[in-house]
Amino acid sequence: MTRIQPPQTDEFLTQARAVLGTTHVLTTDLAAFATDWRGKFTGVPLAVLRPADTQQVAALVKLCAAHGVGIVPQGGNTSMCGGATPDGSGKQVVLSLSRLNRVRSIDPLNNTLTVEAGCVLQTLQELAAEHDRLFPLSLGAEGSCQIGGNIATNAGGVQVLRYGNTRDLVLGLEVVLADGQVLNLLRALRKDNTGYDLKHLFIGSEGTLGIVTAAVLKLFPAPHASTVAFAGFQTPQQALALLGLMRGALGDRFTAFELMSDASVALVRQYFPDTPALFAQTYPWQVLMQATDPGAGDGAQTALEASFQAALEQALEQGVIEDVLIATSVAQAEQLWAVRENISEAQQHDGHNIKHDMAVPVSSVAAFIDEVQPLLHGAYAGVRPIIYGHLGDGNLHFNVSRPPGWSTPDWQAESDRVNALVLDVVARYQGSFSAEHGLGQLKNHEMALYKTPLEIDVMRRVKAALDPQGLMNPGKFLPNGPF
Ligand SMILES: Cc1cc2nc3c(=O)[nH]c(=O)nc-3n(C[C@H](O)[C@H](O)[C@H](O)COP(=O)(O)OP(=O)(O)OC[C@H]3O[C@@H](n4cnc5c(N)ncnc54)[C@H](O)[C@@H]3O)c2cc1C
Repeated sequence: MTRIQPPQTDEFLTQARAVLGTTHVLTTDLAAFATDWRGKFTGVPLAVLRPADTQQVAALVKLCAAHGVGIVPQGGNTSMCGGATPDGSGKQVVLSLSRLNRVRSIDPLNNTLTVEAGCVLQTLQELAAEHDRLFPLSLGAEGSCQIGGNIATNAGGVQVLRYGNTRDLVLGLEVVLADGQVLNLLRALRKDNTGYDLKHLFIGSEGTLGIVTAAVLKLFPAPHASTVAFAGFQTPQQALALLGLMRGALGDRFTAFELMSDASVALVRQYFPDTPALFAQTYPWQVLMQATDPGAGDGAQTALEASFQAALEQALEQGVIEDVLIATSVAQAEQLWAVRENISEAQQHDGHNIKHDMAVPVSSVAAFIDEVQPLLHGAYAGVRPIIYGHLGDGNLHFNVSRPPGWSTPDWQAESDRVNALVLDVVARYQGSFSAEHGLGQLKNHEMALYKTPLEIDVMRRVKAALDPQGLMNPGKFLPNGPF
């Protein structure tokens, strides 16, 4: 198929090729860059540009500014909200950061790693481990998501309980601004009180203020001892009691606490048939827990296991949990983690569901679940809430799967009503309608519903100051698209 380009597009592409060479300006076979991970959004890129370094990113951004071309930065394209795919206008380029994948330096004494934006998260975890360090960001998409995408979305994941969000793991940034200037904030400092901390404007800004090209990341002592367990019980209140008990017993050694409804686990067993039944009976709620310790040697492992087991025995005695399985080998621990990690993909196989990535204060999670579930069941007979996530952070993936007999398009058409049922309750608990995945093009209209006009106005002022032409990831993030 031949696409006839308007003359200014020809000129733009010619100049882009002058910057990158012809091989890295793609205008055909763009499907993988044009559709998001969930297959929910498909755009029409003018081209896909694949720069190799910061200077090339800067030159391309200047070129886009001169031609008024919108730029959609793309990392691993694992966004759950269509954040990294263009609109259907054919006027936006996808700027793929995959070739910016160099490790610039590692400083084990300073516990820092300086890397380019296109490094895949898992390779950074592995690199840290080679230096007997931990880079703790960990999420289901870690084999393909990139650190630039993690930074742009302020990704969370399964160890936020102990180490915080991506925002807490970034010490410095290098950013190409909307006018093509390179803002070098690559400082490896844990203390620096010299004016506004500009890096935080770009972390979590979903590519709407600038292109992240490199970052200084925090490292931690590697965990040499580790123990994992899965527990079953009846109510979300018990989960909160267990969280309090385990944190009290283990302090900072307690690193993950992932809640799952039985419906979530059942879905994994349906689509991943090798998943074993963990308990002889069904428990409506289950939790995966992990504790780690940097201490090396058998002594540290034994001590950690003893504290972990003692806390779990106490939980059993107090009736906080009803059954518990402690992994006795690395393979078993991986098997338990696989149950949690496969939920997203099982849902993907199961077909369209209405996703909510919400947060409320940890202490309100049980009350929130108890309030929302009856509302959904009252509105839709047979509806299947698939509830799982990072209870220790107050953040749940509260996904609502269609009731039996509903077609995917019919269920999709209910999105606004289902969103209102869930998110109005989130708002009453002073929660967040998007705690991890960001807004992209899926959730930006909810800003207008749940943020105050003044908050939105201040965000618009920041956007106008840094991106006056509105070319950085247009149509994402702020309500009503580009300003
Ligand atoms: C199976 C699965 C599990 C997941 N689990 C979690 C989880 O536990 N926690 C969580 O937070 N998220 C999770 N996600 C969502 C997703 O993986 C994260 O949002 C991740 O951080 C996105 O990284 P990416 O490289 O794929 O970014 P992309 O999807 O490519 O982009 C995401 C956003 O960042 C922008 N962007 C990308 N790179 C840059 C850059 N260099 N500069 C500026 N902007 C940029 C894009 O324009 C887009 O707005 C999961 C996704 C999947 C598929």
